[in-house]
Amino acid sequence: MAMILEGKEVAKHTEQQLLQEIEKLKQNHIKPCLGIIRVGEKQDSISYEKSMIKKCEKYGIETKLATFLENTTKEEILTQIQNWNENSFVHGILLLRPLPYEEELCDAICFTKDVDAMGKENMANLYQGKKQGFVPCTPEACMEILEFYHIPCEGKNIVVVGRSLTVGKPMAMLLLNHNATVTICHSKTQHLAEICQKADILIVAIGKEKYITKEFTNPTQVVIDVGIHRTKEGTLCGDVDFQNVVNHVHAITPVPGGVGSVTTIQLLEHVVLSAKITGGK
Ligand code: NAP
Repeated sequence: MAMILEGKEVAKHTEQQLLQEIEKLKQNHIKPCLGIIRVGEKQDSISYEKSMIKKCEKYGIETKLATFLENTTKEEILTQIQNWNENSFVHGILLLRPLPYEEELCDAICFTKDVDAMGKENMANLYQGKKQGFVPCTPEACMEILEFYHIPCEGKNIVVVGRSLTVGKPMAMLLLNHNATVTICHSKTQHLAEICQKADILIVAIGKEKYITKEFTNPTQVVIDVGIHRTKEGTLCGDVDFQNVVNHVHAITPVPGGVGSVTTIQLLEHVVLSAKITGGK
């Protein structure tokens, strides 16, 4: 049986540091605050928003919520973003996807408050290999898991399946910045199983329930499953068929309790960091 890479353990570790930082800010009369924008009534976005607000409350991070109807004009939403950009009591701005006018809205967030690195400026830093600004929380969560379990990336053959702007591409860039040899696969990739099977580390973000089976793996491989799906039975599962794969790899992240558990805490960490840098100004 594979070693299970428990995201919850990684999150617990980060949580300790986070609580200390929040306490220090409190002593300086700064309360970290995250502004959340949702457009439309998509159930997934509402669930994410609720869990985010709950998590923030747990750690003493304030939240502000702005919701818009799906047919709201771009200008109205831009005005809200601008308002929070200029409000020194708001330290982070998160736009929930799916979003209309996505590119323009993401780019409107001041890069110092762009805590999930949705805009071009933070993306550009990552793609240029600069260690400044924020990186997207989900790929960063994958890196945190690898680091926590002392799994080095340098020189490793790492396959990333998925090339979305939110997960696959920034994931590949982060790995490249850590000196991995990276292969990016997508829906047009031929012989996917064969390519995946050769990987030292396999990172999957394709949005297809239990798609990756043991034929894609090897016994010394580390598998990081970014996918998250609610099954017909109401349980959660990943892009990897965990039960099918777990006896055929060296280590694997579970779903739930894997990457997702770390992603949220990374976002809160970014809000606190932003409050630390800009707070009181
Ligand atoms: P996305 O935007 O739909 O992108 C999916 C990517 O996978 C695309 O690049 C697509 O290729 C590729 N793909 C689809 N089918 C494939 C196949 N059969 N073989 C190879 N590649 C295939 O999804 P996303 O936003 O990146 O999210 C991916 C998964 O991660 C989803 O399950 C999502 O719910 C989950 N997620 C989890 C977290 C977390 O914190 N745990 C955060 C964000 C997302 P093309 O480019 O060719 O279409």
